[in-house]
Amino acid sequence: MNVTPFWLAGRPATGDESIEVTNPFDGHVVGAASVPTPAQVEEAVAAADAVRRQAAALPLHVRAEALLHVSRRLAERADEVARLITAENGKPLLWARGEVARAVATFRFAAEETRRWSGNVQRLDTEPAAAGRVAYVTRVPRGPVLGISPFNFPLNLTAHKIAPAIAVGTPIIVKPAPATPLSALLLGELLAETDLPVGMFSVLPVPNDRAGGLVDDPRLPIVSFTGSVPVGWSINDQVPRKHVTLELGGNGAAVVLPDADLDWAASRIGLFANYQGGQSCIAVQRVYVDRSVYEEFLPKLIDAVNGLVTGDPWDERTQVGPLVSTDAAVRVETWVNEAVDAGAKVLAGGSRDGAVYAPTILSEVPADAKVAREEVFGPVLLVQPVDGVDDAFAHVNDSAFGLQAGVFTRSLDVAFRAHRELDVGGVIIGDVPSYRADQMPYGGVKDSGVGREGLHSAMNDYTEEKVMVLTGL
Ligand code: NAD
Repeated sequence: MNVTPFWLAGRPATGDESIEVTNPFDGHVVGAASVPTPAQVEEAVAAADAVRRQAAALPLHVRAEALLHVSRRLAERADEVARLITAENGKPLLWARGEVARAVATFRFAAEETRRWSGNVQRLDTEPAAAGRVAYVTRVPRGPVLGISPFNFPLNLTAHKIAPAIAVGTPIIVKPAPATPLSALLLGELLAETDLPVGMFSVLPVPNDRAGGLVDDPRLPIVSFTGSVPVGWSINDQVPRKHVTLELGGNGAAVVLPDADLDWAASRIGLFANYQGGQSCIAVQRVYVDRSVYEEFLPKLIDAVNGLVTGDPWDERTQVGPLVSTDAAVRVETWVNEAVDAGAKVLAGGSRDGAVYAPTILSEVPADAKVAREEVFGPVLLVQPVDGVDDAFAHVNDSAFGLQAGVFTRSLDVAFRAHRELDVGGVIIGDVPSYRADQMPYGGVKDSGVGREGLHSAMNDYTEEKVMVLTGL
C-alpha cells in the first residue's frame, strides 16, 4: 500500500506506524498516512520553536509569494486534489471541486492580506503629560500555532489554519483528522516547494489519543481548533492559559418570511440542509416558516429535497453522498427514529443505505428530541411554522449553539433586526446560514465556539499588539 509521508519541519518523514484511509462509500482502501513517533513530534515542535524569530522577520513579499505559490499549485492540480478529497472523505466530486476552488482563494486572500499587513503610529500628545511622545504599534505573533482540523473540509479548513500563520510570520504545526489526513499532507507537499524556512510548518497525523501532548506543549501557545463541541471545549479546559480558538458545531437555522422568494428559499434550504450529507457545521438543520406561507412553501421544499441526486460521490451529478462512515449514518438513523417514535412526521427520506442517509425532512418534532437540540451532522431538516418575526427569532435563539443564521426576507428593517437580535456569529440575509465567503469573519457564539476565522480575523487572532513609545519627538 502507498504510505504518504508526513511533513516534519518542512521535510517528508515516516514513522513506525501508519493510518489506513478508506473511502466511506465503497470501503476501498485509498491509501495510508505515516504517523510520527513521539520523538518526531518533539523534533517538529522544537523546530517550530527554534525558527520563531526568523519566521517573524520574514519579509512580507516572501510570505506572500509562498502563499501565492500554494494557491497557484492547487489551481494547477485542482482535478487531482478534488479526487483526493472525494477518495478520503466520500464528499461528492461536485463539492470537492468547490472546496479546492475555495482553498485556492483562501491562500490567495492570505497573500493579499499579507501585503496589507502593517502597523500604525499613534500620537500620544493628546494629553499634556504625553507631549513629545509617539507610540509605534505593530501586531506580533503570539507564538507558534497548533492547528487542529476536522474531516468535513479536510483541505480548506486546514488551509484556514496554515495560510494566516504564514501571513503573520509564525510557524504552524497542523494535526489533521485521522479519517482524512491526505489532503492536509498534500498541502505540506506544496508548502515544501516554497522558500519558507525549515521548521515553519509540520503536518503531523497524530492519533487522537496522542494529540493531548501537542495541546499541552507550552511552545505552542496558540491552539486553533475546528471540530466538534465536546472535543473543542475540553481542549479549552485542558489549557486555560493558552490562546484557544474554537470553531465548533451548530444546528443552523433558517427563517422564511412572507416577503421572501419562496422558490429560491426552498431550493437553497433543500440543498444546504443536505449537501455533502449535511456534514457542514453551518448546514441548515431547522427551518422556521411564517405560518401565512407555510402551506405554499412546504411542497416546494419537499420537491427540492426529493429532487437531490444522492449516492455515488464519483458521479459528477451527485449532490448528497455518504456520511463519513456507516457508523455516522447509523447514528443519524437512530436519532431520526427516536424523533419519529416521539411523534415526528417524516415528509421526505428517512432511510439509510450503508453510509448514505437519504435527505430527510421532519415536521412536528418534539422540542427536546436529539435531532432538534443537538447537531445532527447529517442530511436531516426540521420544518416548523411560526407566527411572525418575534416567534421565528425566538426559535432560532432557542439553541445551545450560535454559528450562523439565514433569514429569507426583502426587508432591510428585518435584516438589521436579525443582526441585532439573533445570537449567532453571522447573519445571512436572503440565503441559508451555510453561506461562507472565506475572507469574511467567521465563527460562533455560545457552544459553537470562540474567536473568528477568515484571513484577516485569523491573522489578528494569531497576533497581539506590541507597542514602542518614542520619547522626545
Ligand atoms: P472532532 O472533534 O472529532 O475532530 C476534530 C479534530 O480534533 C480532529 O483532527 C481530531 O483528530 C482532533 N481531536 C480529537 N480528539 C482530540 C483530542 N483529545 N485532543 C486533540 N485533538 C483531538 O470533529 P470531526 O468529527 O472531525 O468534525 C466534525 C465537527 O467539526 C462537527 O461538530 C462540525 O460542526 C465541526 N466543524 C466546525 C466548523 C466551524 O468552522 N465552526 C467547520 C467544520 C466542522
